[in-house]
Amino acid sequence: MRRFLFWCVLGAVVSALVAAPETPKQTPPPKPQVARTRVADGFDFPVGKPDADGYYKARGFRPNGHLGEDWNGIKGGDTDLGDPIYSTAHGLVVFARDVHLGWGNVVVIRHIYFEERELKTVDSLYGHLDAIKVREGQQVLRGQLIGTMGTAHGIYPAHLHFEIHKNIQMGVSRTGYRHDFTNYYSPTDFINGRRQLPGGGRTTLVAINTFTETRTFGAPTSGGAALRNDPKSTTGSLPASTTITVPKSSARPLKSSTFRVDRFGDLNSE
Ligand SMILES: [Zn+2]
Repeated sequence: MRRFLFWCVLGAVVSALVAAPETPKQTPPPKPQVARTRVADGFDFPVGKPDADGYYKARGFRPNGHLGEDWNGIKGGDTDLGDPIYSTAHGLVVFARDVHLGWGNVVVIRHIYFEERELKTVDSLYGHLDAIKVREGQQVLRGQLIGTMGTAHGIYPAHLHFEIHKNIQMGVSRTGYRHDFTNYYSPTDFINGRRQLPGGGRTTLVAINTFTETRTFGAPTSGGAALRNDPKSTTGSLPASTTITVPKSSARPLKSSTFRVDRFGDLNSE
């Protein structure tokens, strides 16, 4: 009897082992959750590098109002159209797309920096760009050209809308997040307090694919590896840098149904 039981159990184990590989895996491979990037050695202003020479802050950060800063050239009008926009610090491009709807072309760069003996993460956001000069997954250095100043497809006079996000889940979607210092920094204050930082330059792991918004905001800049929607993203292998310009012809008519963002309570000069 004991021997019979032994063979029964053995048979069950063997059949389980044999059967296991036959169950087809339906789920797609998981998206990468981390990528390598350089620790920031300090933060600079995104225009007139490094100190915003030749530019002024036309509009500041206001909690529950204007959630970033508007930067303009001192010569006025659209004389600053096409001016270079620079990465505020070393980091990884986690978003580089045409979002339309008041945002236009947007680049979001994720930064890791040392502060109070720990590694912290922030996102810098550059909105209304005329052209995007980086692609998702690209490593950038402080002061590197990432885009040019634009008008969000003619909606505004040319300026840069610049944000610093404490919360790295928001990206370009503000819905459901508090519009205050819980999730945002005042950009100028943030930069001025971190012009030079210790421990910069070394590489470390940074979280990616953190945005909670699941809808697609247009295609990533051509040739880029999408961090959010492409499970085969090669982000983890540090892709070589390239320069890609998003042509204006890629602009599509505004569609309020495709993307809703609470940014119109402050319409005058986003
Ligand atoms: Zn603005």
